Amino acid sequence: MNNKNNKQSSNGMNNFSKFSIIYIILGIFMVYMYQFYSKTESTTITYSQFKKLVSENRVVKCKISAKYIKGVYLDKKNNKKKAFIAIAVNDPNLIKELEAHNVDFSGTITNTWLTNLIFGWILPFGFLFFLWWLMTKKMRGTSGGLFGFGKSRFKVYLNEKPDVKFSDVAGAEEAKQEIQEVVEFLKDPDKYKRLGGRAPKGVLLVGAPGTGKTLLAKATAGEAGTPFISISGSEFVEMFVGVGASRVRDLFNEAKKLSPCIVFIDEIDAIGKSRALNSLTSNDEREQTLNQLLAEMDGFDSSVGVIIMAATNRPEVLDPALMRPGRFDRQIIVDKPDVKGREAIIRVHIKKIKVGEDVKIETLAKMTPGLVGADLANIVNEAALLAAREDKEAVHMEHFEEAIERQLAGLKKKNRVIKEDEKKRVAYHESGHAIIAYLLPGADPVHKISIIPRGLSALGYTQQLPTDEKYLITKEDMLDKVAVLFGGRAAEEIVFGSVSTGAQNDLMRATDIVRAVITQFGMDEKLGLVVLEKPGGNQFLTPEGIMRERDDISEKTKELIDAQVSKMMQNIYERAKGILMKNKDKLEMLAQELLKKEIINEDELKAVMEGENGIQD
Ligand code: ADP
Ligand code: ZN
Repeated sequence: MNNKNNKQSSNGMNNFSKFSIIYIILGIFMVYMYQFYSKTESTTITYSQFKKLVSENRVVKCKISAKYIKGVYLDKKNNKKKAFIAIAVNDPNLIKELEAHNVDFSGTITNTWLTNLIFGWILPFGFLFFLWWLMTKKMRGTSGGLFGFGKSRFKVYLNEKPDVKFSDVAGAEEAKQEIQEVVEFLKDPDKYKRLGGRAPKGVLLVGAPGTGKTLLAKATAGEAGTPFISISGSEFVEMFVGVGASRVRDLFNEAKKLSPCIVFIDEIDAIGKSRALNSLTSNDEREQTLNQLLAEMDGFDSSVGVIIMAATNRPEVLDPALMRPGRFDRQIIVDKPDVKGREAIIRVHIKKIKVGEDVKIETLAKMTPGLVGADLANIVNEAALLAAREDKEAVHMEHFEEAIERQLAGLKKKNRVIKEDEKKRVAYHESGHAIIAYLLPGADPVHKISIIPRGLSALGYTQQLPTDEKYLITKEDMLDKVAVLFGGRAAEEIVFGSVSTGAQNDLMRATDIVRAVITQFGMDEKLGLVVLEKPGGNQFLTPEGIMRERDDISEKTKELIDAQVSKMMQNIYERAKGILMKNKDKLEMLAQELLKKEIINEDELKAVMEGENGIQD
């Protein structure tokens, strides 16, 4: 965010100079045109009028150029001399006529070549050059001259290491804990290896924009006291082919010189988009850059002491090759903060300003569901500005309220704020998943339930973690898992009497499992022990793991498969609904708790499910 701000302000500068240059050019152009056309106050006449004037002996004198005839004639009314201008016409008899009427005439070689040169060549080419210069200016950046295309312009915090510490990153406790290892490694790479640690190499930070991924990466460098080199993925892939790859090379050379250090690549999805996803509109430039990045990451061994950190909010589009061992094999989720997290973040930022005694940070946290660290930092900033505008000694609650309203209004335009009734629905939906997962033995235990939206599609989620690796799954286990998936929709139906589109992904996954039960594992009584599907065909078109119907199956069998799938699904759905009906009080309690806290962990879920009078806070 910090570097985003910098980018913005420097763009502002560019815009400013761009505009003033354009204005200057326009001004010069207009002055020139004015002079060009307003030199003479002569009347324009047609060539035939001119000929008539000649024949009437009224032309005093004239100058003939290739394009114009300029001259002076006698006005009939007052016998005064008047200037005229007429467009020249190819007229071989003109000279004879002028001589016959005793007109004083002369020819001029007009300097048309100069105007031609200016208007026909210098201006257009100058303009093109100017455009090109503007476009490439961004690329050239600060380093390299006119031809320094390949030079990257990452920011290097050379000996001035970032002074951000983990204490500046509020709320992200889990992420900080996971990243602690990287800090240990950077502090003393050799010692870390002597003690038997497997050296980390790449860490992928996954989370919505503004959740503090950049901040966290900087704080990691700050804690370890190492330099921090950062670049944004979109800067890699700019206009000219080959630039991206050479930038990657530069970046890694620089990093090796500075080691131990952290290289931070923001928006890595700009280069790391899955090549399979993109096979139709292949982008060679991006692919080259990605390949170079993979090669560089494989190319140095971890004793060098360089850690590559990257951030993305769309991990699902990343090329799986990036996630292989020795590359970004550690993924850390940087979640949107819950109420407590938001409170902590506000505390961090509010330290920098003077607040009145009426300001209640807990209330501010409650007023800002779904907002991320960057939003909160903005709000504190805005509130301080509002107070300053009113010449107040300190920032008061009213300023914060106004600032929050503004921030929310801005986000509403971008559709990032969930409405109250949607939030309620999501709470019941997720509670439905969680309760069934808690009660059924075949389902994986619930780790966390959240109604903080993650990305655009998921408004909430229930995270389950398998207890231990299972190699054999029974049919009952699989059906239990499907029941969990149906829990969300069933809860919505019970509580609201209607269902929403929020369950779409659940239904898709449920269908996949049920189909597999019937067609791959031969677990359906009617269809029996037959494998009816086989692993998917074209490995480039279908992602790994997709199953394809065998093409030697009769239409009748296909119909039977469909019928059995939908029958089994219906049965499981009824079962899920039955379980929730029996536990309606728990559903109610859990959803209310979720609405209050936004995130509920394993123990809190247990307290609701086991507690007789609900949970004690
Ligand atoms: P991201 O890289 O995830 O888009 P940034 O790290 O750029 O987000 O965060 C932008 C700004 O928001 C930070 O500079 C900081 O001021 C504020 N911020 C974000 N998350 C936190 C946090 N957990 N604690 C304190 N400030 C935060
Ligand atoms: Zn769901």
